[in-house]
Amino acid sequence: MDAGAERGGESFVGHENTKKNSLLILKDRIIIVTGGANGIGRALCRRFAVEGAKAIVVADVDAHGARSVADEVGGLPVATDVTRESDVRRLVQTTIDKFGGIDLFCSNAGIAVDGGEATPDADWRRSWDVNVMGHVYAARAVLPPMLAAGGGYLLQTVSAAGLLTHIHSATYAVTKHAALAFAEWISVAYGDRGIRVSVLCPQGVKTDMLARAAESGREFLLDTALEPERVADDVVKGIADERFLILPHPEVAEYFRRKAADYDRWLRGMRRLRAVTR
Ligand code: NAD
Repeated sequence: MDAGAERGGESFVGHENTKKNSLLILKDRIIIVTGGANGIGRALCRRFAVEGAKAIVVADVDAHGARSVADEVGGLPVATDVTRESDVRRLVQTTIDKFGGIDLFCSNAGIAVDGGEATPDADWRRSWDVNVMGHVYAARAVLPPMLAAGGGYLLQTVSAAGLLTHIHSATYAVTKHAALAFAEWISVAYGDRGIRVSVLCPQGVKTDMLARAAESGREFLLDTALEPERVADDVVKGIADERFLILPHPEVAEYFRRKAADYDRWLRGMRRLRAVTR
């Protein structure tokens, strides 16, 4: 029997009385985190363990890192390349076979490649495969069992770049916009059937990804960068509230409003920012 059915078909949607209490929301949940071996994903795994999750499946192409995080949180490591649909299917099936269902799938793995339109095709494709198809394969694999159980939760780690842009990476800006569009689409298509979706859209977070970007010497997000643990706090609150947009940097909401209100002015501002960080 799957986890949702064990709870009488209750999904996250069914927790009306306890909605604000994150500890109850995540307690006894069965959770998968892709990109769980490092950075934001690792912080999510650690936080879910504190929240009393029943099972934490740490999925990453970095098998060694996944094992070490799984050991730490009492979870299950599953070596997974999210760009391979067969890997993602196996990840979902392994979790169901072992724990009986999936309550929350955190599709968090992502990569960043610096550069503009001249970025080699291989990097464009790789970015698309990880940052977009990783979410698509996750949804394909996990929606049928979640729908059969009466509901479930998808968290997609996107980025503020999905709402705004990334001034030094065309591949990142484009693929993160696409990832956001996909999450919106899933929410519209399945929201009435018990599927909840949140997108995590931070600016800088102090992980290896940001450290690699900082090596280029033009990473302007360092000043406001957050610890991944802080981001994990916001994720837990966002899930408890069933909020679509999780913004660890709240100022991003204002930037997004300004972009919508006056696109040309916003583009001029972005050009100025690019010029001073070149
Ligand atoms: P990170 O590099 O520290 O961790 C990313 C993890 O994803 C790594 O463990 C890596 O092995 C894994 N991964 C990469 N490709 C994979 C694949 N094909 N299959 C499975 N796992 C794969 O980076 P992070 O900062 O923790 O990034 C996590 C997510 O947060 C990404 O989606 C990233 O785009 C997003 N993000 C990061 C920042 C930031 O400033 N760090 C800001 C906004 C959004």
